[in-house]
Amino acid sequence: MKGCIFCGIAEGERPARVCHEDEQCVAFHDIHPQAPVHILVVPRRHIASLNAARPEDEALLGHLVRVAAQLAGENGIAASGFRTVINTNAEAGQSVYHLHVHLLGGRRMRWPPG
Ligand code: AMP
Repeated sequence: MKGCIFCGIAEGERPARVCHEDEQCVAFHDIHPQAPVHILVVPRRHIASLNAARPEDEALLGHLVRVAAQLAGENGIAASGFRTVINTNAEAGQSVYHLHVHLLGGRRMRWPPG
């Protein structure tokens, strides 16, 4: 989508530290990491948020989570533990309206999240 920062990264038009690419998604390191490992997994297709996901997106959503788990392994945090987060809309803190899975790890996570 024109003007969408994550579409720009997915299309290679904006710089990012990309660590995974496939037909359905792109993953890159968060520009303001909240943990030693903080990676965003984003679908290539623009979906504004989880609220906009359709039944036919179920396989894609599963793929994003599976890729996050794969990247946890590649970044050495699979055994110690990691968190996957999808923030949806203002009260959850969504700031970029292109659906993305946060992969966070490398430190102890607190619960409940703030
Ligand atoms: P959220 O607040 O859940 O929408 O998450 C958006 C995330 O995108 C934040 O953690 C930002 O630090 C991150 N972010 C924003 N712009 C960029 C960028 N150009 N490259 C990498 N991460 C970004």
